[in-house]
Amino acid sequence: MNPANRANSVKETTHSHSQSVLDMRTIPDMLQSEFDQLHAKFKTVSTLHLTDLQTEINGWQHDGIITKKFYEQNYSQFVFHPPSTLTNAHSIIVIGIPQKITNIAFFHQGKRYQTIIPPTYIYTKIRTICKEILSTILSKQGYSVERAILPMKLLAVRSGLGKYGKNNLCYVDGMGSYTRLEAFYTDYEFPVDNWYEKELMKSCSSCSLCQHTCPTQCIPNDRILIHADHCLTYFNENIGVFPPSIPKQSHNALIGCMHCQIVCPQNKKYLEYNQNTITFTEEEISCILQKTPRENIPQTLAKKLIDIDIYEDYPELPRNFTVLIDKKNAEDSSKRHTDSLK
Ligand code: SF4
Ligand code: SF4
Repeated sequence: MNPANRANSVKETTHSHSQSVLDMRTIPDMLQSEFDQLHAKFKTVSTLHLTDLQTEINGWQHDGIITKKFYEQNYSQFVFHPPSTLTNAHSIIVIGIPQKITNIAFFHQGKRYQTIIPPTYIYTKIRTICKEILSTILSKQGYSVERAILPMKLLAVRSGLGKYGKNNLCYVDGMGSYTRLEAFYTDYEFPVDNWYEKELMKSCSSCSLCQHTCPTQCIPNDRILIHADHCLTYFNENIGVFPPSIPKQSHNALIGCMHCQIVCPQNKKYLEYNQNTITFTEEEISCILQKTPRENIPQTLAKKLIDIDIYEDYPELPRNFTVLIDKKNAEDSSKRHTDSLK
């Protein structure tokens, strides 16, 4: 045990109420053991790096790498300081947890359709579990835990938890990009401050599959950041009409986009890694397509949307379901035409 860990162990033991074997472990050891059970990984970063994170994100806008509009829509919600309830936070814990694709089935005019929600979108349960684990272990030692609202992919890459793919997703060993990222502040000072330069995965140096498959050609060669304001995800996560630059046949998910993740060799092992199917009935889809005000939708539909964390995306859903219906109908019609020529 190194001196820093030994010091922490002594401190933890002093704070504890009993002298069980568990008490002799350090806080990082105890967290490791809990997160191992979820096949999750974590890294710890000093809160001193909050300024580095903020400077980097602001620099992207300042240097024209992202537009002002994109910054305001996507980055303005980040808070680069601990909350008022935990102003003496010393560390940030950044966690990567494996997450599956969520299959969605839905019915419209008697026909069954299928789509997906990509990994990383579903957060409530995972966030609650992470907070429970952290709170249980840290609060026993007299420390507090609060959620950190930060640019998660950048934080995870800088912490060494993961590496960027050319598609700007964060890849974590053993999970690929099928990883939900969460971060929390604590006033416990972790002995290790992980902070690294941004890095692309080694495999990206000899691969360009995601670039070739991207329907909007938004993955460049000359910089790490994609042209995110051209990415299909950006458009289907925000309200408005899809621009002509988005091919009709490119829609592949209820929200987000899977094209660059599906072709990525680093995700090969996780492709079949799918969640149970969530089904929307004919009535529920009619309700959405008719743009029924969210406060008037049936409780069963509201619960379903809340369970898969897309209740806040309700304004985008009529458009997003419509393009998926149109795409499938166009494909079926083209297939019928081809079959009739055989
Ligand atoms: S598809 Fe290839 S280039 Fe793109 S992220 Fe995966 S490994 Fe990297
Ligand atoms: S999510 Fe889709 S549109 Fe965005 S970079 Fe990947 S393939 Fe391109």
